[in-house]
Amino acid sequence: MWQSRTVDSSLVTGILAVVFGLIVGSFLNVCIVRIPEGKSIVWPASACPKCGAAIRPYDNIPVVSYLLLRGKCRGCQTAISRIYPAVELLTAVLFWGCYRMFGPTPEAVKWAVFSAVMVVLVFTDLRERILPDMVNYPGLAAGLGFSLFIPPGDGTALWMANRLFGYFPPPRAASFAEALLGAALGGGLLWLVSEVYFRLRKREGMGLGDVKMMLMTGAFFGAKRTLLTIFAGSLLGSLLGIAFILARRKGSNYELPFGTFLGLAALLVVFFGTPVVNWYQSLLMAR
Ligand SMILES: [Zn+2]
Repeated sequence: MWQSRTVDSSLVTGILAVVFGLIVGSFLNVCIVRIPEGKSIVWPASACPKCGAAIRPYDNIPVVSYLLLRGKCRGCQTAISRIYPAVELLTAVLFWGCYRMFGPTPEAVKWAVFSAVMVVLVFTDLRERILPDMVNYPGLAAGLGFSLFIPPGDGTALWMANRLFGYFPPPRAASFAEALLGAALGGGLLWLVSEVYFRLRKREGMGLGDVKMMLMTGAFFGAKRTLLTIFAGSLLGSLLGIAFILARRKGSNYELPFGTFLGLAALLVVFFGTPVVNWYQSLLMAR
């Protein structure tokens, strides 16, 4: 009896996570379209970009409306971008994943917030090559704020304090230091790469948006998973970038959405990063 009740309640919470993810995803779509244009994300209500008809509440149900309308505006039959249902589905999957991975905990909330921020950046960079300050700065503040209550669980800053200064900081200070170190490392490394690229090629290869994005990501992850994100994002970018350039034949001037790759890597690292970091550390220890 007890057994079946726990199964039921976790199923219900899982479904709630999916529904909440779909609703948040719908709001993230608004952010993705309007923030790069400098428009308000709360007003006015959504309208068809072609015919200007207001989108009615019953045509605004995440994913379901897209399917019922067969991907077309009810008024003018203009195709609705597939990015909308994709963002809603992706957010739902990520929220469900956070719940499955971390249970009904504050930690799940932290990673759901991070996932939502990353979804916005992945798609603004893909669509417009923009990683807006209006997303990066509040994200950085959230990452640092969360670290006061939910430790990044990294240990690099604590280890440095112990080894270099013989200092054992109180847990909350140590946790905040992990976030600061992660931010400094993420932002610093990307800044360094962009500087080197600029000096060598005499043109901007990477905007400050990527630097700020990794500053924010570092505050959530701490040092180790930030390094893993940069490594995985670069690898992903190189592989997909080469494939894309070969397929499209756009030449070497085609600007790759590096923020999109970093964002996808960061989302993978949320769910699969810790075992990879532990495995790599065990390799170093074994030597
Ligand atoms: Zn229309």
